[in-house]
Amino acid sequence: MDISYIINELAEDRENYFNAIAPPIIQSSNFAFKTVDEMRHAFADEYSTYLYSRGLNPTVDILRKKLAALDNAEDCLVFNSGAAAIFAAVLANVKSGDHIVSVKKPYTWAQKMFNDILPRFGVTTSYIDGRDIENFERAILPNTTVIYLESPNSWDYAIQDLKAVAELAKAENIVTIIDNSYCTPIYQKPINFGIDITLQSATKYIGGHSDTVAGVLSGSAKMMERIFNSEYMNIGSGISPFNAWLLIRGLRTLPVRLERISQTTKQLIHFLQQHEKVETVLFPLDENFPQYQLAKQQMQGACGLLTFVIKADAVEQIEKFCNSLQHILMAVSWGGHESLIIPKCAGLPAAQFNAMQKEHRMLRLYVGLEETDYIIEDLNQAFAMM
Ligand SMILES: *Cc1c(COP(=O)(O)O)cnc(C)c1O
Repeated sequence: MDISYIINELAEDRENYFNAIAPPIIQSSNFAFKTVDEMRHAFADEYSTYLYSRGLNPTVDILRKKLAALDNAEDCLVFNSGAAAIFAAVLANVKSGDHIVSVKKPYTWAQKMFNDILPRFGVTTSYIDGRDIENFERAILPNTTVIYLESPNSWDYAIQDLKAVAELAKAENIVTIIDNSYCTPIYQKPINFGIDITLQSATKYIGGHSDTVAGVLSGSAKMMERIFNSEYMNIGSGISPFNAWLLIRGLRTLPVRLERISQTTKQLIHFLQQHEKVETVLFPLDENFPQYQLAKQQMQGACGLLTFVIKADAVEQIEKFCNSLQHILMAVSWGGHESLIIPKCAGLPAAQFNAMQKEHRMLRLYVGLEETDYIIEDLNQAFAMM
């Protein structure tokens, strides 16, 4: 399916709503039936009937069809956050006594689920370095039911060989789940490599304007129906019609935003690599990146998220750099129109800072839609203030 068709036409039945270009927001909690028999059918199969908006909603359905097509998946579910999508996907595939193999340092709230919540129900998790397929082979136990991936990781960009992991998991009857937030389905389609469930935080690139929190799960119709009838309906964290509408609007410009951001990011990497205050730059599609070859094989592009290690002897220097930025905002998240920065040292007490540890000197920069020179000048003046 053409990407332009998916974004502009798929699932949009304009004749049904006055030929309006933008789809309607069906802001209704419930839907009426003409006969008892119709209602009976809806009760029996809520996955294919409009009954109540905690389940299906027509505005959300337009979005679902587009997102599933972008992922090359049979179906998808959209949640009120990426964290809810992660939780539903994992919960649907474990029971008491099961074991999960996860890449180390997945998204924070995935870690909290693995470490704090699932053990209460007898589900354990082993973390591995996912860069080597042998680590997966070694970690799999007879009771392993889920392999959890995040490729690339959103801080150090560690990558897993998706095809190899999918093959291994299939042979062992294990469900594979990947957090694909970094690439979006525009730059990586994990389903094409044999991964069972792909998810993303739509808060980031799909929304694209830092105004909506949402998450997406894509996979087989069978898997999505199962998750819909249990976790999706029971947790009740499906996306609202208005937020779904905002995501449809975000999708209209997704490819062009990614293209622009990719170009600016390339220039910024060049700038940072030349700068005397910068030790290294981490970015999966940079030739110096240790897993560059694998990244090139699996990913059609990379986004505007990069990490650089700054040269500093004291935490005050990094703080001075960040506090001096005039345009780049210090904030979590990414994928919006605005450039953002997070220094790793904000996550630890200042007294614990150790300049010998590279990780303490890491800064994650998200490149937004501003002019390249505008961002470079801001970085330059902040470096000068150090
Ligand atoms: C933001 C993020 C999430 C969580 O998504 P929310 O929409 O914030 O709940 C999951 N994974 C990654 C890699 C993220 O960056």
